[in-house]
Amino acid sequence: MGKIEADVIVIAAGASGLAAAVAAAESGAKVVAFEKGATTGGTGNMGMGPFGVESRLQRLKQMGPTRDEAFQMFMEYTHWRVDAQLVRAYIDKSATTIAWLESLGVEFVEPATYFPGGQFTWHLVKPASGQPGPMSSATMMKILTDKAKELGVKIHLQTPVKRILKSGDRITGVIAEDRSGEPVEASAKAVIVATGGFGDNPEMIKKYTGFKWGDDLFSFRIPGMEGEGIRMAWAAGAAPTDMTMELIYGMPGEWDPRLHETFRQPHLMVNLLGERFMNEAIMPNTTYTGNAIARQKNRSSFLVFDGSIKRHMETVGYDELSVVFPFTKVEDLDALLKDAFAKGYPHVFVAGSLDELAEKTGIDAEGLKATAAEYNGYCASGFDPVFNKDHKLLRPLVEPPFYAARHLPSAYGSLGGIKINHRTEVLNKGWDKIPGLYAAGTDACTIYGDSYVFTLPGNTMGFALNTGRIAGENAAAYAKSQG
Ligand SMILES: Cc1cc2nc3c(=O)[nH]c(=O)nc-3n(C[C@H](O)[C@H](O)[C@H](O)COP(=O)(O)OP(=O)(O)OC[C@H]3O[C@@H](n4cnc5c(N)ncnc54)[C@H](O)[C@@H]3O)c2cc1C
Repeated sequence: MGKIEADVIVIAAGASGLAAAVAAAESGAKVVAFEKGATTGGTGNMGMGPFGVESRLQRLKQMGPTRDEAFQMFMEYTHWRVDAQLVRAYIDKSATTIAWLESLGVEFVEPATYFPGGQFTWHLVKPASGQPGPMSSATMMKILTDKAKELGVKIHLQTPVKRILKSGDRITGVIAEDRSGEPVEASAKAVIVATGGFGDNPEMIKKYTGFKWGDDLFSFRIPGMEGEGIRMAWAAGAAPTDMTMELIYGMPGEWDPRLHETFRQPHLMVNLLGERFMNEAIMPNTTYTGNAIARQKNRSSFLVFDGSIKRHMETVGYDELSVVFPFTKVEDLDALLKDAFAKGYPHVFVAGSLDELAEKTGIDAEGLKATAAEYNGYCASGFDPVFNKDHKLLRPLVEPPFYAARHLPSAYGSLGGIKINHRTEVLNKGWDKIPGLYAAGTDACTIYGDSYVFTLPGNTMGFALNTGRIAGENAAAYAKSQG
């Protein structure tokens, strides 16, 4: 590959790396990106769209919140335990980022929210196929990749970066590894770390978040997200931050989405003691539900319903409709369950009695029966005195068979690792800038405190794209200032 020289090197070409590369190139920098994967986009290919406030589409539909309102919500949600300047910089940038993406050719449909009560900040990407759905953001990643190439960004695929180089305090480049395993040295005045966190690294997950992957956590493991950028930045002097998982919940492993939708309806949810622990109406807020499940015995929970509720979901339909999947009812649950059992899927259960269900699931039988009797009483009176669940969602468990699915904590990926300021400059333990080092996206995302801000949907991809742009612009300006 020979010796590579650039003004700005971007480590990775996922959501934040691509935004950084395009922004730096637009600012006039010579940009080189090293991407570990065989394609660009990273986790950015998986989702539906980014956060934005005061965008053209929101103004057109007179949709809130405003930037000030979003900032206020953010800071109250996090109890001001996060970098307010960084939150402000991100929120303020978000409308211009949506406009910038539109100018590059990305199309969005009307902004959406994830669940009732959430804000309409989610800008769903319209894919080539028309309707947004899982992975529609891949279209946006493709457009950013094409734009980067058009601007002269050289993207080296399957070329992971191994080390960040420094001379004294200053960043001078990186060492990557080419497809044949040979080291490649590249020099630059500025380096942007954007490697997407450690969601595919069970050791880091255990060490920094306490969850044991495959035991009490079944998060997405997007291949390649192994925390390399975080560790390289630390080795170059970056200060570490708190690290968490972007927690949600779900039925572990591979499942048919129709089965998942059926078992995420807000019926009775119990823990291993057979006790309720949440208002099931909040289940669409997957972060809150993930948090509630994570504090139960063995971090386990079970969604339970009976034959009459099953019939309701097959004939009338679901109570909660998903934005991600287009199902409104379950056509034939028996067939889905038969298929799941045939495949040996161990997290769904059918039983002729509550005792049998308890035996199969491991839920305490007396606890389950007592809770069901109590809950049925709430359904009869139309009032849930414990959690005040909406009476429209109160359906009793009276008719066998009884159905259950096990839910455990899950996560989209990790959050945090590298300390940055609101200009995305990386800081050392003494809060001094490391000249020439920037970080963006998941590797540096510490703005949610202990829980992902799902009430303002599109947030992690929004943070990735916006901090990517900020990093690209600032790194290019810094490189220019170095002559
Ligand atoms: C199923 C799913 C759906 C999602 N939907 C949404 C959504 O609708 N809205 C939303 O806001 N968020 C969503 N997210 C989260 C969002 O996609 C991520 O937060 C975002 O992509 C993070 O961007 P990033 O640039 O930090 O990391 P990524 O986009 O993951 O990019 C990281 C890149 O780093 C590369 N890399 C790793 N190590 C190295 C190395 N050593 N050298 C070079 N390259 C390296 C990887 O190959 C990858 O390409 C979703 C996540 C999942 C899993």
